Amino acid sequence: MAGNQTTLLLPTPVRTAIERLNERGFEAYAVGGCVRDSLLGKEPKDWDVTVSSTPDETKEVFSDCRIIETGVKHGTVTVLLCGEPLELTTYRLDGDYLDNRHPSSVSFTRSLEDDLARRDFTVNAMAYHPARGIVDLYGGRDDLAKKLIRAVGDPNKRFDEDGLRILRALRFASVLGFSIEEATDRAIHEKKDLLCNISPERIREEFCKLLLGVSAKEILLDYSDVLSVFLPEIAPAVGFDQKSVYHCYDVYRHMVEAVAVSKPDLVTRLVLYFHDIGKPSTFYEDERGGHFRDHAPRGAEIVEKILLRLRFPNDTVERVTNLVYRHDTPIPPTEKSVKRLMQKFSDEDIDRLMEIKRCDRLAHAEGHREPVESLTAIPELVKKIREDAACFNLSGLAVKGGDLIAIGIPEGPEVGILLNDLLEKVIDGELPNDKSALLTYLQTKR
Ligand code: ATP
Ligand code: MG
Repeated sequence: MAGNQTTLLLPTPVRTAIERLNERGFEAYAVGGCVRDSLLGKEPKDWDVTVSSTPDETKEVFSDCRIIETGVKHGTVTVLLCGEPLELTTYRLDGDYLDNRHPSSVSFTRSLEDDLARRDFTVNAMAYHPARGIVDLYGGRDDLAKKLIRAVGDPNKRFDEDGLRILRALRFASVLGFSIEEATDRAIHEKKDLLCNISPERIREEFCKLLLGVSAKEILLDYSDVLSVFLPEIAPAVGFDQKSVYHCYDVYRHMVEAVAVSKPDLVTRLVLYFHDIGKPSTFYEDERGGHFRDHAPRGAEIVEKILLRLRFPNDTVERVTNLVYRHDTPIPPTEKSVKRLMQKFSDEDIDRLMEIKRCDRLAHAEGHREPVESLTAIPELVKKIREDAACFNLSGLAVKGGDLIAIGIPEGPEVGILLNDLLEKVIDGELPNDKSALLTYLQTKR
């Protein structure tokens, strides 16, 4: 295991943990994503340390520290060092992967080589020690330089062991802006159906990271067959000719092009990736070309099913579904229409809706795009309505249900109907948002 001269900057807790374990006769290395990202000159999100000590031995070495035992079954002891949690994971050999889902057993080993061999891709299979340098047994550094995702060992076998690696390959390629090495690429397409065996939560996690990556566009386009395994709803959109002068791309490509020009925000990108998913099933053609009436509500139904299936949190499902539903609805730049929008969406989601419309427009055929400049008027109106403290919903209305009951309106559904009626009139500027004016109006109307 030849070392080399490369020096990585380790955070103090990582250096301290490695030193302490070494003093007690154990091996310890920074490993995986943190080594990869450091070599790429990026700041690692977190630092993983792989150690030759068993979990019990690790706990013993850090017996004076606070320890969190949640991952011990898998060999991970979390130690609080300098106030920060650090994961120390015993060198592992993964057992047989009987169901392509998770290792049927975890066995510990004293060999770093074994631990690196079980890792998914060469760029993720490097370890680093301050005195020994980088341990790179599979050409990870070469692949970093070539910007390649390559399976450690035989890709077919590695995907058979754990089908999630197929999606992880796409995720890393998207996030790092890498290509996928030929044999690994072939195995991904061949073995894609193994993703059927993977839990929705694990799929969701990798898919979201993929969607936010710098090369999301290339990966979403090149691997739509793989993504269709867990997103069968996208398959009809791939290659679907829109028969429209407004579009230079098929439905799928249009959605991906919209993702590609968007800010890397998860809700925004989920909406854009699925925004026209209702088009294939609502398509009809006449002498003027293709039409997709009600494709947005249809898309909202489809996307809701997808997100529930992938176990997204309820608020994400709701947000994305509502934004898909509304992505195509025109918003006149008037206070009235913006107030109605504010009833349905938070200010943050209105900003998202504008970003969604911007990206959707940019992904239309040149010369047939609505200008994106006009979209800035909407957030400005939101700001003005906020500054004026103008009423746009029932909680801002100057009368409440109790006020109506006090003037003799019977308790019951009529109260709600009247309140909503008043709100509409206030928003339309037909009545001032003033208690006595509103009550007088009601009394004269009755
Ligand atoms: P990120 O910066 O996104 O966290 P990461 O490389 O740390 O990237 P993790 O998913 O946190 O990715 O995994 C940590 C390390 O564990 C990986 O670098 C890899 O060595 C190994 N690993 C994780 N999942 C698998 C898997 N399914 N099969 C093989 N090795 C894996
Ligand atoms: Mg990580």
